[in-house]
Amino acid sequence: MAEPVFRRLALIGIGLIGSSVARIAAERGELAREVVANARTEATLDRVRDLGIADRVEMNPARAVEGADCVMLCAPVGAYAALAQAIAPHLAPGCVLTDVGSTKQSVIRDVGPLVPEGVHFVPGHPIAGTEYSGPDSGFTTLFQGRWCLLTPPPGTDPGAVEKVAEFWRRCGSMVEVMEPAHHDRVLAIVSHLPHLLAFTICGTADALEEESRQQVLKFAASGFRDFTRIAGSDPVMWRDIFLNNRDALLEMLQRFTEDAQAMARAVRWGDPAYIEARIQAGRVIRRSLIELKQA
Ligand code: NAP
Repeated sequence: MAEPVFRRLALIGIGLIGSSVARIAAERGELAREVVANARTEATLDRVRDLGIADRVEMNPARAVEGADCVMLCAPVGAYAALAQAIAPHLAPGCVLTDVGSTKQSVIRDVGPLVPEGVHFVPGHPIAGTEYSGPDSGFTTLFQGRWCLLTPPPGTDPGAVEKVAEFWRRCGSMVEVMEPAHHDRVLAIVSHLPHLLAFTICGTADALEEESRQQVLKFAASGFRDFTRIAGSDPVMWRDIFLNNRDALLEMLQRFTEDAQAMARAVRWGDPAYIEARIQAGRVIRRSLIELKQA
């Protein structure tokens, strides 16, 4: 077995993502020699204890990070500023501070200025997830074959970036370094906008008069069903993502609205060629995803 990447890993937040990391660490021993888990509630920490996926649980984030050579923020991004404030004075010199948050410019804005001298800040985002949350929802193959994007600020120690990259490779991920602004634009279209559409379409169906709403649920075809799966995601996590990737999300929504209007015009005036071409373009994207094994 390879030497673990880190000696002591502190997971601040242990839901779907944190508990998947903890499970991999517990199963393979190649990530960290020791895992300390922190969460907001006793109930979650009790559950982590029962599951046996961390060596130690710690309610106080400041105490959780003490002596850790890697601290990974795995809470909703809206909680990062307060968490960073709580842990910053307790981070060990030379420690790597990383995260798994779905937005990256906001994380650099909220956490960056609080990182003490001598601590290496390597923001990250594993592009892997499900609509489930909490410590029971994690599993060891979550990151297998999925991308993990790292957005280190200029001047970050390359050795620290490589350690985080190696950590994610050992979780089964492919790793790429990216500009944070680029990350946020790409994620706005591939993830944040689709979630916004799913929440909205479910809201639209829910607002139908009683009788139609019943029929929607009874006869839900695969199209609507797929949206409801996405719409089952955690409200706090998604509220925080929308508010923390505001500009890119609004830009993609604007583009989408224009394209939807063009489709509406084609439907209204009967333009079969336009409609078919747009559907064809969607099929091409689906096929490329399957070929890239990301479907
Ligand atoms: P999750 O299952 O809801 O777990 C969140 C964890 O953070 C819980 O342990 C929770 O503790 C803790 N937490 C919540 N609010 C907190 C606060 N205000 N202060 C301190 N701790 C708090 O979330 P997740 O799906 O693992 O997502 C975690 C992060 O990963 C988010 O930043 C998200 O953007 C990112 N991410 C998610 C996905 C996905 O598909 N889910 C994919 C990639 C990245 P309690 O249980 O005690 O409340």
